[in-house]
Amino acid sequence: MKTTRYIFVTGGIMSSLGKGIAAASIGALLQSRGWSVKIKKMDPYINFDPGTMSPYRHGEVFVMSDGGETDLDFGHYERFTGIECTKNDTITTGKIYTDVLNRERKGEYLGSDIQVVPHITDEIKKFITSDEGKADFVVCEVGGTVGDIEGLPYIEAIRQLTQEMTKSLVLLVHLTYIITIRISGEQKTKPTQNSVQQMRSLGLSPDILLCRTESPMEDESKKKLQTFCGVKYENVIEALDTDNIYKIPTQYHESGLDKQICEHFGIGTTKSDEEAIKTKWGSLCSKIASTRGSVDIAIVGKYTKLKDAYISLNQAIIHTGMHLGTQININWIDADNDDVIPQLRGMKAIIVPGGFGARGYLNKVNAIKYSRENKVPYLGICLGMQLAVIESCRNICGVDANSSEFSETGEFVVDFLDTWVNKDGKVEIRKVSDNKGGTMRLGAHVCNIKPGTLASRVFGGSDKIVERYRHRYEVNIAKYSDLFEKAGIVFSGMSEDGTLPKIMERQDHPYFIGTQSHPELISSPFNPHPLFVELIKAGIAL
Ligand code: GLN
Repeated sequence: MKTTRYIFVTGGIMSSLGKGIAAASIGALLQSRGWSVKIKKMDPYINFDPGTMSPYRHGEVFVMSDGGETDLDFGHYERFTGIECTKNDTITTGKIYTDVLNRERKGEYLGSDIQVVPHITDEIKKFITSDEGKADFVVCEVGGTVGDIEGLPYIEAIRQLTQEMTKSLVLLVHLTYIITIRISGEQKTKPTQNSVQQMRSLGLSPDILLCRTESPMEDESKKKLQTFCGVKYENVIEALDTDNIYKIPTQYHESGLDKQICEHFGIGTTKSDEEAIKTKWGSLCSKIASTRGSVDIAIVGKYTKLKDAYISLNQAIIHTGMHLGTQININWIDADNDDVIPQLRGMKAIIVPGGFGARGYLNKVNAIKYSRENKVPYLGICLGMQLAVIESCRNICGVDANSSEFSETGEFVVDFLDTWVNKDGKVEIRKVSDNKGGTMRLGAHVCNIKPGTLASRVFGGSDKIVERYRHRYEVNIAKYSDLFEKAGIVFSGMSEDGTLPKIMERQDHPYFIGTQSHPELISSPFNPHPLFVELIKAGIAL
């Protein structure tokens, strides 16, 4: 049994300061020091999970290997640490109440009245400590901002834990924002002081202040925070804005964050730990610094106004750029409003990402036609693959091809997926009228690759790959295989049972490939996904 230490990451003043990246970076630094780490998140909203939340409002839904549909922060955790997270690493208020109420209905509370304290807080504590003894560190991010009504039970649960546990096993990191007044250049710490005061009124005092700032922190600001927030001077850590999030672990390290964490827990630091951090994260910084030249690509999607809606895709492209040593400029094209074709001129590659619903789909089909006819490298992701199949059937064979997701009439070359076989051999059956939440084909599945195809080359000759999925509709190969052949579509990847097309390609084109999976979910800065790397390489070779 390991001694498990707990690090809570809370946020102050406002949202969007990057708590997820902070938690991921803390996990990554401890991991580089040789410790085993588990990263978890508690989200105070009432939804059961983010599966049905709009990407416009909430950003991307990240899909875990086990099929969990979760918050985009899990993408950061996985990309920074390489640890596969699971459904059990996340809770929302909705999930906790559902569990507690189900138990109440079964009579498990023996007639007592159910209260936030202790019943809900007990459930939260159970979640936090469920990996006790299994990992050296549990880093637990608390969603929202300290003081939010929804977040109170979580803060209270942490307060109880800090009392129940040995003090030396718990650490509170509070991520906050230092405001710089543009005209005078003056740094202001008052909002942080207020936020810490609010935390104290709830019974918690941060041990470390992680200070997001756009200008290097002045000594005076640090001293003020030390005095007014009761935090050690060395524990006021600067978190300077950066142009690339993969520089953050190195920045934190240089600001002394992991050293202070080790000191808090009374664990020694060695020279070789320092070297390990420099080798792993410093080498990424060198890669970023040595980037030369640039290439322009287009992404034709529907949620382009909120970049968080495509955060993993954006990151996968950053990984590719770092790997190839080139800057990749993404031109986000709004399929719903923009005049698409003129904007595609001069692009070295085109991506149509995943999406739901009919809005903007015709413009995406037109963009695909443009890339097919003009031999511009194309990558279709999930919906982007389905639309590539529809495009070829329409424009090459003149068939009124469609998806039953968008239309009531036409040839449904893409149709509702009602039956499939899972990894464990279990048959899944779905109806159109099922609940929307958690009912798609979700998570990691095996895909068999046909030798001698573009897909086989992209995946280095592997005949089996594992990718993550999140879709409800499927290319209907059982009914339309003759049409697909006439349209020149080759299905170079099939589901393990051989029934579902997972990768399509065109062999009359330098790089035209569509995948039903979401390759962006498994790309990392240390392991960029080959579908993006080969796409950009093909674009550069144009
Ligand atoms: N809307 C399509 C489906 O449900 C594609 C989903 C996606 O792109 N993630 O199959």
